[in-house]
Amino acid sequence: MTRVLTLLGATGSIGASTLDLVRRNRDDWRVEALTAQCSAAELAALAIEFGAKLAVVGDETCLPELRESLGNSGIEAAGGRAALVEAAARPADMTVAAIVGCAGLAPVMAAVERGGTIALANKEALVSAGEVLMQAVAKHGATLLPTDSEHNAIFQCLNGNRIDDVAKITLTASGGPLRTWTQAQLDAATPAEAVAHPNWSMGAKISVDSATMMNKGLEYIEAYHLFPVGLDRLGIVIHPQSVIHSMVEFRDRSTLAQLGPSDMRVPIASCLAWPQRMETPLAPLDLAAIGELTFFPPDEDRFPATRLAREAIRAGGSAPAILNAANEVAVAAFLAGQIRFTRIAAVVEETLARNNDAPRPTSLEEVLAVDQSGRMQAMSLLETNALV
Ligand code: NAD
Ligand code: MG
Repeated sequence: MTRVLTLLGATGSIGASTLDLVRRNRDDWRVEALTAQCSAAELAALAIEFGAKLAVVGDETCLPELRESLGNSGIEAAGGRAALVEAAARPADMTVAAIVGCAGLAPVMAAVERGGTIALANKEALVSAGEVLMQAVAKHGATLLPTDSEHNAIFQCLNGNRIDDVAKITLTASGGPLRTWTQAQLDAATPAEAVAHPNWSMGAKISVDSATMMNKGLEYIEAYHLFPVGLDRLGIVIHPQSVIHSMVEFRDRSTLAQLGPSDMRVPIASCLAWPQRMETPLAPLDLAAIGELTFFPPDEDRFPATRLAREAIRAGGSAPAILNAANEVAVAAFLAGQIRFTRIAAVVEETLARNNDAPRPTSLEEVLAVDQSGRMQAMSLLETNALV
């Protein structure tokens, strides 16, 4: 049976992995909408290839180029933030949410509000809007399929089990490309070094997040909302080979883990085919060739981001949204060569300290307002402290 797919963030890394799977199974899918921030020519080419009905650019200034690139294909074109939301609100059997950053929140919410099935890669949406988003999922009967590899692993391990029987959920973390670096080396890490992930090929922002360990911090908050076992039952272990994607221990001391190649097509396929399974083009896992799986505790002195995330959950209120906003600003500044690598976590910590009593946002609008104010505060910190 053909199912209707909308892909938010079609030109990114998750977008490409998703479309690779769809391309191999063309008869299973009809594409409703594809979106991107700009990359108009690339988006148009994908929309034409996949016979999408609608192509949307978030940046309205890219709309003329999108129209031109779509030519007389008959594909509808639109631009701007409201058009992204409108695309997500259109009926679809599956919405893959792969926009990076809090920019993806409003479209995700639109898909939730129509009670859709959403493969959620866009972790920042859940970090910023945790309670608001989860409440909307429950209210509208939406289905959230975690696409982030760790959460997808946990989702698979929990299948058929009761959440009350969980003793502990452990997120695995590769430790990123700078895992073994000294503090002094970290101070001097360049954007090229930070994005050179040993196991995963990903977009620039999440690659920097992996290097700072903020990716695991965001995932910690993401897991806190997706799997309500409480903070005390959520842990992190460093596992440099990225073969075990996360694990769940039950109260009888049985632990289930999900293993697989470090390729996002595996968790994406698990979401696209859910509750069934589909083929992927990946080589089988060869444990004898891998030889060794190793594990270490996280070092929160060199990589404070996971501590900041835990503190943000404990603080509650607007802290997780502020943490995410400050991190987005700091990562962009690092990638632009404006601040050092180790300033990223420092900017997040300082921004959080200045917002320690902001109330909990209770609607999408309030989350977006908190996000905006977190960004402004982080930017003003950067202006006064640039390059330190
Ligand atoms: P990416 O940078 O490669 O792609 C991002 C996509 O979003 C692109 O299509 C881009 O055009 C679009 N986009 C960017 N800014 C936008 C904006 N302001 N408004 C609308 N669209 C915008 O990112 P990615 O690596 O594919 O990651 C996407 C999301 O998935 C992120 O939240 C990331 O944390 C998460 N994720 C990624 C991976 C991975 O392996 N890449 C793994 C797990 C989770
Ligand atoms: Mg992940």
